[in-house]
Amino acid sequence: MSATRVLVLNSGSSSVKYQLLDMADGGRLAMGLVERIGEETSRLKHTPLVTGGESREWSGTIADHEAALQAVSEELAKDGLGLDSPELAAIGHRVVHGGQAFTEPTVVDGAVLAEIERLIPVAPLHNPANLTGIRTAMALRPDLPQVAVFDTAFHTTMPESAARYAIDVKTADEHRIRRYGFHGTSHAYVSRATAELLGRAPEEVNVIVLHLGNGASASAVRGGRCVDTSMGLTPLEGLVMGTRSGDLDPAVIFHLARVGGMSIAEIDTLLNKKSGLVGLCGDNDMREIRRRVDEGDEAARLAFDIYIHRLKKYIGAYYAVLGTVDAIAFTAGVGENAAPVREAAVAGLETLGLAVDGALNAVRSDEPRLISPADARVKVAVVPTDEELEIATQTYALVKKID
Ligand code: ADP
Repeated sequence: MSATRVLVLNSGSSSVKYQLLDMADGGRLAMGLVERIGEETSRLKHTPLVTGGESREWSGTIADHEAALQAVSEELAKDGLGLDSPELAAIGHRVVHGGQAFTEPTVVDGAVLAEIERLIPVAPLHNPANLTGIRTAMALRPDLPQVAVFDTAFHTTMPESAARYAIDVKTADEHRIRRYGFHGTSHAYVSRATAELLGRAPEEVNVIVLHLGNGASASAVRGGRCVDTSMGLTPLEGLVMGTRSGDLDPAVIFHLARVGGMSIAEIDTLLNKKSGLVGLCGDNDMREIRRRVDEGDEAARLAFDIYIHRLKKYIGAYYAVLGTVDAIAFTAGVGENAAPVREAAVAGLETLGLAVDGALNAVRSDEPRLISPADARVKVAVVPTDEELEIATQTYALVKKID
């Protein structure tokens, strides 16, 4: 029997999220999360999905990523799914920044590790943690293919006109400053799933994908290839997010430094952690914001309106970039669940062929679905994202090709 299981690892600086999938049928065997690695209050939550078992929680000290992965392996082993199993075909790692070098999923070797490391200056928060996860997994199963799947890869098809900032070319090149985009695994998955929902090949359709989670980004996808996306050198650019400002005049930063006396580190924290919805109204959960709006809260109303205004600007911009649009797809926590956001984002865009059917929009479901009126020129879709499945699919396809 050939190995068909793929373990997907998403390693953060103090957490590891994981899922074990069987690619024979794409089914999930187990999933879980280790949090607060390196603290006394580390926590592991493991959910076996094949055995129908209950979630198991454990807390105590998990000193580092190696101990975390060992603990995960022990939990998996209780259901006969341990990392030493011959049925494990590969480990797929989410890597946030692949720069221009990585346009596809890649089997990790020394050179790949070195390149991911070289990209740390443009992804100081994410790439070091991703590297730790890969190195730990390699030490645990050195015989197994370890595949890096990059958040940036889907966006490497952007033309230079979209990827370049209009700044001095020499300076930009010296510091590798350009628009890379993120959430690529989600944009790839959702744009393909949207084409499927329309019953058409991805090559035939133009889609605007709105990934609205705590982080949020939009992309313009022409015939299955990304031609523009809203995040840039870092995930700060673009839409209003849970805690990030998205687009702003770069001179705000000079002003805060010169007039506000703030340090670069303080401004970084302000724009990435204390802005967006949380900066505007103190909440970053769209459920809470909607509840407050319904109660007549002014700050929540303004935060919602700013969020929607920005979203609408990107829909319009990407409509113009694509020329013709077959569908707009909403995904991630807000996009999949917040009907008022979807309704407001396309309100008044009937002349662009865009509309939402109130009854369809109100339906709650985990399935991909259309929420536009039957005769709509441009379809509006809700397509739940599945980044783990996409990472596992890409990882498995690569190891099968090499086999
Ligand atoms: P991320 O992966 O970026 O952390 P998610 O895609 O899980 O985020 O999205 C999380 C966000 O989704 C929450 O902050 C919340 O604003 C929003 N969300 C989740 N469920 C709902 C819901 N039922 N209604 C409205 N918003 C929701």
